[in-house]
Parts: sequence; structure tokens; C-alpha cells
Amino acid sequence: MSSIPTTTTSAAGFFRIPPPPHRMPAAGVRMMAGALRSNASSLSTVGSILTNLQHESATPLPVLRHVADAMTEDMRAGLAVEGGSDLKMILSYVDALPSGNEKGLFYALDLGGTNFRVLRVQLGGKEERVIATESEQVSIPKELMSGTSEQLFDFIASGLATFAEVEGGNFRLPHGRQREIGFTFSFPVMQTSIDSGILMKWTKGFSVSGTAGRDVVACLNEAMERQALDMRVSALVNDTVGALAGARYWDDDVMVAVILGTGTNACYVERTDAIPRLHGTMSASGMTIINTEWGAFSNGIPLTVFDKDMDAASINPGEQIFEKTISGMYLGEIARRVLLKMAEEGDLFGRSFPQKLTTPFSLRTPDLCAMQQDDSDDLQAVGSILYNATQVESNLSSRKVALEVCDAIVKRGGRLAGAGIVGILQKMDQDSKGSIYGKRTVVAMDGGLYEHYPQYRGYMQRAVEELLGSEISRNIVIEHSKDGSGIGAALLAATNSKYEH
Ligand code: ADP
Ligand code: MG
Repeated sequence: MSSIPTTTTSAAGFFRIPPPPHRMPAAGVRMMAGALRSNASSLSTVGSILTNLQHESATPLPVLRHVADAMTEDMRAGLAVEGGSDLKMILSYVDALPSGNEKGLFYALDLGGTNFRVLRVQLGGKEERVIATESEQVSIPKELMSGTSEQLFDFIASGLATFAEVEGGNFRLPHGRQREIGFTFSFPVMQTSIDSGILMKWTKGFSVSGTAGRDVVACLNEAMERQALDMRVSALVNDTVGALAGARYWDDDVMVAVILGTGTNACYVERTDAIPRLHGTMSASGMTIINTEWGAFSNGIPLTVFDKDMDAASINPGEQIFEKTISGMYLGEIARRVLLKMAEEGDLFGRSFPQKLTTPFSLRTPDLCAMQQDDSDDLQAVGSILYNATQVESNLSSRKVALEVCDAIVKRGGRLAGAGIVGILQKMDQDSKGSIYGKRTVVAMDGGLYEHYPQYRGYMQRAVEELLGSEISRNIVIEHSKDGSGIGAALLAATNSKYEH
């Protein structure tokens, strides 16, 4: 049996994770930590790591206020000049939102992460609204995520062709018309028009060759030609923009859309005269949707040593700092890093702990969420979730500590997301002389994290209320717009149809 040396409690050594490779035992071997430490000193070490975490991740009102103000300022800087801020403030070329009058058959294609989704909708105008929808989800084979551009787009086009073949019943296309598609593409795209955009880089595990730097609509069109599929992309939209359009179809007061899922992003309705980068070019409507790409925001975010270490070990160090503190891909991993340190330094799970606890991303955000729903006396569910994810054996007191760790991280995430939303609302309100705070304004929310994590939602909502005060927050409605984005893309295909509408 070997025991690993415990690190000192000096600031630098204390927080050093993950352990250097030479300290890692062979797979399956349990680590022995601090065999000689007394129970009392272990408890106080765990306690001080927790207190430090809570202190460093705290988001009292002044911190939230700073984050909201910095978000507003970064938005302005990004609108002023290209590359003027962390926030890219991408022009969506969507300057007309659905009115409700849209009619006809439209398709949507959503390439987001591991799945792509196809959808068709028959729109019946103001009276009949959505007459029928049908959708299908197809998972993307792993090998295509790192194959060639042709392979990926051929796969998508053939899935679309199969789906389009079985169109019947309530779906009708007027004679002689081409089927039109709204294409939701949730990767960073520099939009060049409503129906074209250059892929800047793949993210979320994709590393497809031959697409970066190319127009993704052209890639899809070429694949559809190879499939002899006679369809046309009328709108290329970011998922946040699709969500905004989908929610706006039902509610004229929707001005902002936020996605909190694996990653995070937000878009909003901007006046073209408030975009210096446009040099006076106005849209017919005087407005346009701006895709903020707010995941890249970083100003004033309270970061712990655990965040810094996770960032350093990530594939994009120094980037997407807001995303790394508030979105679903990362919350579980931050918690795992804290628990590992507590196990190493303070024997949180006894004198030894399984190697699985050292595996990055073994604890996932849905695990944190499930643990926080356990209201039993013995926290049995917490115990089994911890065990299933990381193989640690826990007792009541270590389960309580684990819950405190989850809470600190989720609280910061939710509250910072709320501050970000206020940053956007405040920018819009200042530029429109009070027309946002002074009337009902809706923020449409979507994404798995927001949808499934009640504590996160609660922290977010309360932060918005703290920042805005009770009177203004009565006018701000934050609501879930489930699956708005699929229909939203089809609606934008309708709004941008080449046919009369
Ligand atoms: P994507 O963002 O990849 O397009 P979703 O919007 O469906 O997909 O979000 C999926 C993400 O939502 C997951 O990666 C996870 O982080 C988070 N999530 C899913 N289910 C839960 C849950 N029960 N509790 C907390 N977070 C969840
Ligand atoms: Mg998505």
C-alpha cells in the first residue's frame, strides 16, 4: 500500500489540481490520502476549502451590478467597431421578425451538437397559426464529426431527403414552388447575408475538415444537389436567433432570447441606428437581431482557482470564460475539481478515494441537479449519484458538503446569467429612452440547463429582481420557450421566402 504525500496548505500548493501525473496511481487502485491526518484536521481542511470556494465564487449585488454594467459596455464596444470587444455582436441579417401572417409549408434543419433535427411546418396565417408540424431527430455518427465536410453534409442532405419524401396529410406546397428551409447552425458563423455565412471554427467536439472558412449554406446546397434534392435555404440562423423568432411569433413583447444548454449565448432586437459599425445603413424596419456570442464575455467574473485550473486544461484556454462559469458543460466539472481537492486534502470520502474522481467530466451538471433534488434525511440519492458518477463512498456529512459545493457553483452560474440578461436589457433601455423597463418585455429562454435545473432558474430570476428592483422586474418576463428555435427557423424561412408573402 502506498500513501501519497499530502500537499502543504500554502495558497499555491493547497489548490494545485489535478495532481501531477507521477502521483496518479494505476487504474482502479485507490489512492491513500493523509493516512496520518487526524479526523479533526481533515474536517477543518474540508471546511476551509468550502469557505474559500463560497467566498471566491460569491456574487453579492455589487458584483452583479459590475457584471451587468460591463456586459452593457462590451456590447456597445462590439457594436462600435468590428473586434472592439470580447463580444462579437454578430449581425444576423434578420431584420424582420415573424408577424403571424406567415402562410405555407416550410422546413427547418437544426445542426446543433450531437443531433440534427429536421422539421416541417404548415403555417396558416393569423387565424390558423401552426396547422401542423412534424419533426425527426437523427444522431450524427461519431466518425462524421471528424470526417470530411462532404461526408457530413451528404449525411445531412440524405436525412433531409428521406424526411421530405414522406410529406403528406396536412402539408401542401403550391404547385411549381421549391421547398424552402430555415437552417439553424449552432456554431460560430460570420453571417454574410440572411442566407449565407462563413464557418469561423468548429466547436463542441466537431473537427470536420474542409468547412472552416467556407459558406455553410453552399456546403449544404452542394450536398443537396448531389442528392438531387430540390430544396433551398432561405435563412441561415443561429439557434438563439431561431429561439427569438419562434417566441416572437406568439408574443410581440419578446425582445431577447437566451440559450442555457451545453454552452450559452444570447441575442436581442437592436435598432440599426444604434450600430455604428453599419455606418448609417438602415434596415427597412429600422431594427435587426444581434447575436452577441456572450459566452466570450469575461469582465469582472469572480473566478476560483478551480475555474482557472479547468480553463487551463481546456481546449480553448482563456476563451469563453462566461460560458465556462454559467453553462451546462462545465458546472459539474468545477464541482468535481472541488470535491477532488477536498478528498485529497481533507479526506472528504475517507482515507482513500477512487481514481474515477480524478477523471475530468465524470461528474456532470445533470448529476448536480439530481443531487439538489434530494430532500431525504439521509441524502441517499446524493450518495448513489456520487457513487455512480465517481465511485466515491460517502456518509451523511460528506453528502452535505457535496451539496454545499453544488450550491455554490450553481448559485454563481444562475446569478451571473441573470446579471448578463440585465446587461442586455439595460443596454436596450438606455438606447430607447425607457421603452424596455417601462412596459412588458419578454426574455425567451431555452436550453437543457435552464429547462431542467430549478435551483439554477431560481437563482437567475432572483438576481434579475435584485438588480432591477421590484417595480421594474414586474415588467420583465423571463419565460421558457420550449422548442421555439425549430419553428423559429422555419418562420424565418417564411419571412425571407423568395416567393410573395
Ligand atoms: P445543446 O445545448 O447541446 O444544444 P440542450 O439545450 O438540450 O442541448 O442542453 C443540453 C445540456 O443541458 C446538457 O449538456 C447539460 O449540461 C444540460 N442539462 C441537461 N439535462 C439537465 C438536467 N437534468 N439538469 C441540469 N442540466 C441539464
Ligand atoms: Mg441547442
